Amino acid sequence: MKSLAIWMLALASTAGAQVERSIPVKNIEYNVTFDSVTAESRLIKVGMTFTTVSQGTVLLSLPEWTPGAYEVGNFARFVNNFAVSEANAQLEWDKADKDTWRIRVPRAGKVEVAFDYKADSLDNANSWSKSNFAFFNGTNLFLYPEGIGMDFVATVTVRTNPEWRIATGMHATGVNTFSATNYHDLVDMPFFVGVFDIDSTTVVGKTLRFASYPSGSITPVVRTGIFQQLAKIIPYQATIFGEVPWDSYTVLQVSDADFTLGSASGLEHQNSHLDIISPIVLGNPILASLYAHEVFHAWNVKRLRPADMTPYQYDREQPTPLLWISEGVTDYYADLSQVRGKTVTPRGFYGSTTEKIDHIIETLPTSLEDASVTTWAKPVDGTDDIYYDKGSVAGLLLDIMIRDASDNRRSLDTVMRELYETTYKKGKGFTNDDWWSAISKAAGGKAFAEFERRYIDGREAFPLDSVLPLGGLKLFVERTVRPSLGISISEDEEGLRVMQVVVSGPGATAGVKLGDYLLKVGGLDAGDPAFQEKFNAKYAGMAPGGTVPIEIRRGTQRLTLNAPVRFNTTETRRLIEVTNASPKAIRVRDGLLNGTLQQ
Ligand SMILES: [Zn+2]
Repeated sequence: MKSLAIWMLALASTAGAQVERSIPVKNIEYNVTFDSVTAESRLIKVGMTFTTVSQGTVLLSLPEWTPGAYEVGNFARFVNNFAVSEANAQLEWDKADKDTWRIRVPRAGKVEVAFDYKADSLDNANSWSKSNFAFFNGTNLFLYPEGIGMDFVATVTVRTNPEWRIATGMHATGVNTFSATNYHDLVDMPFFVGVFDIDSTTVVGKTLRFASYPSGSITPVVRTGIFQQLAKIIPYQATIFGEVPWDSYTVLQVSDADFTLGSASGLEHQNSHLDIISPIVLGNPILASLYAHEVFHAWNVKRLRPADMTPYQYDREQPTPLLWISEGVTDYYADLSQVRGKTVTPRGFYGSTTEKIDHIIETLPTSLEDASVTTWAKPVDGTDDIYYDKGSVAGLLLDIMIRDASDNRRSLDTVMRELYETTYKKGKGFTNDDWWSAISKAAGGKAFAEFERRYIDGREAFPLDSVLPLGGLKLFVERTVRPSLGISISEDEEGLRVMQVVVSGPGATAGVKLGDYLLKVGGLDAGDPAFQEKFNAKYAGMAPGGTVPIEIRRGTQRLTLNAPVRFNTTETRRLIEVTNASPKAIRVRDGLLNGTLQQ
């Protein structure tokens, strides 16, 4: 009965929705012109040609988003001067929706589309230009025919100044000509065009290129350092999946003062990634963690991908509750591959993990699945990007639990490899069931339904105190208390002079007045450089509610006043190794840090 109702509903909705399709088009070719002339207006000139075998309506769309950037891009808004012609006669067109052009083609033949694209968005999902350089994403420029599939071969010809360079992950088929066997690949390979530096090395037996704009923005020493770091990190990523899935990989890096000060952003692709970096971050070794994250995505999300995003759809948002795996677990492996490659120490790994734990604790309790789907809505309550850090720590906990349950014979690496083989390699995406089945299998059949319900789908605080010790780790929490007296003081030649007394604060309640000199608080010399340390030691364990004696000098009088106790307490957390961990917990910890399993 139920399935019948669903069937009838499905039938009704199919009959109701008129899905518009384009008439078939063949021989799709694109051309892109960016040179010193178009650069003056920050324009990229885009052309598309194709042939039709009959008259009819052609529907051409631009994507709604760039995969990897989980937000609506509305790239169609940057299109200017749209025009279509056939045999030199202009054809009529209108818009079928906000990013679909509907063209009436009167007869079979070759159709030419042309428009100008405003390339002034300094965002790695968009396109941007300067007087001698542009980067662009295929999602911004390359129209696709609606409703006839994405498996068409496409070529791109780039026209530019003769002395300018071109860099892209696309396969070169001639001078300034590139091709892709399908639309997914076409729009997954951004371009650099113009004046920039590029150099290459060999990592894991494949070419690794590093392109950077502006020219001279990084020194040869810095570039060599980046190559050396990636040469240590990438092998530990490839080992997990058992293959290097690219022929060559290109890091495309732009730095510009217009980008958010002090920040860096990367966007992953199947054989490249595009970073935008604030100039003051250039040369900072911390960038290695960004590169490690984006390169790991070449496996996790570009290939091993949630079924909800397989294949990518370009005409709609594609939310998945599993984005925490694609992003958070990727970030966990960015950290792991650095510690395994010994570009960071275990202490550095614990430090970055502590920062993630701090972020989770300081953020509203948020379910990883909820945060994953909600990212498209860009929540403003501070939970917008929590699935990165929280997903990363979830990865650590799952890794520890699998290693503990299998006595370090299997790990989260086992799970990633298994899903890669059983889903991506079989031409499909993975589901929530696939994920948890693989986790449970790696853990020797241990059930994870409760863990998922409470900590992944639910909002309960992570069970750090019970799970971390299984990996020989613990979260050490140090509480610091500071006396809150509601007064401010300034030092002059006579001592610590009270400059301000907060009305009805503890100091005011005790009777402290402007101009008093503060001598002792809680029996401790207020001028002692070690005052804070000593106060902390004396009062950290004391519950609020009592009083603290304050000794002051007023004129020639010495007075002892009693202030109600009010403390400002701060917690400092540190992930540390347990000193007396069991041999098994040490095996788990060493396995995790080194990427090794017991035989
Ligand atoms: Zn990412």
